[in-house]
Amino acid sequence: MPLIRVLIGALVLIGLLVLPAGSGPGDRLLPSARAITAEHPDIWAGASWARGEHVLVVGRPRGLVAELAAPADRGSRTVARVWGRPVDAVILVPATTEQAAALAAPARVTGLAALAGVDRVIVEPSGFARLSAAGRRVVITHELTHVATDAAATGHLPAWLVEGFADYVGYLDSGLTAGAVAAELAADLRAGAPPRALPDRADFAAGSPRRAQAYEEAWLACRYIAERFGERRLVALYRAAMRTGRDGGEGIDGVLRATLGISTAELTRSWLAYLPTVILR
Ligand SMILES: [Zn+2]
Repeated sequence: MPLIRVLIGALVLIGLLVLPAGSGPGDRLLPSARAITAEHPDIWAGASWARGEHVLVVGRPRGLVAELAAPADRGSRTVARVWGRPVDAVILVPATTEQAAALAAPARVTGLAALAGVDRVIVEPSGFARLSAAGRRVVITHELTHVATDAAATGHLPAWLVEGFADYVGYLDSGLTAGAVAAELAADLRAGAPPRALPDRADFAAGSPRRAQAYEEAWLACRYIAERFGERRLVALYRAAMRTGRDGGEGIDGVLRATLGISTAELTRSWLAYLPTVILR
């Protein structure tokens, strides 16, 4: 296991934030961390920082900041293994939901544990606090996948592919079973109410009654593709979808046919048949 260098310190607010000096593996993140924290200096007064190989964590409380650098680095390496290149990001840990909302605006933080920007991950502290250690690793890896795949700039991709791929990477090394992860969807299947289609963008929105199921369905769609066609084809599908235009419907059907040789309808049928085999056993 590679040596994880995690350095911990305290930020001092004197005009600009004083971030770590010296030579650390995460030093290339210092300029963006300075720029990002300067956007909301009031939020980061007295904050702590912890530096990993691929992440720089800023925020409070100090214990949480220190704890996050190592699992976030592991997440970055998982992203690199799947996506083909490492991802570097500043991880922001504000003290309150209101601060997280200010950092994320215009994106909404309602119901989320964390969210990704172009070069950063923003933790929503109350949602994050409800997660187990394993759940936190999954969420951070999910968000780092969004950073690596430039999700903030690829809004034309189908939501099931964006969220499903991020969860596919997020859950890879989690050791969690599909039945445990997809508990809400399993309950729907047991109640004789399976989904009829891949989840669309509205299903993932804050306040959607099927938001939990939407994430579970999207994750299992990507897991199904990886199991049937191989992880490299799943990545090829994602990359091809990024290259297509902004036409989500027609676009993804063509990309599926070109990269996997199946239509959206065929994928949907196969995925629906796959769901009970992995979450009800
Ligand atoms: Zn996501």
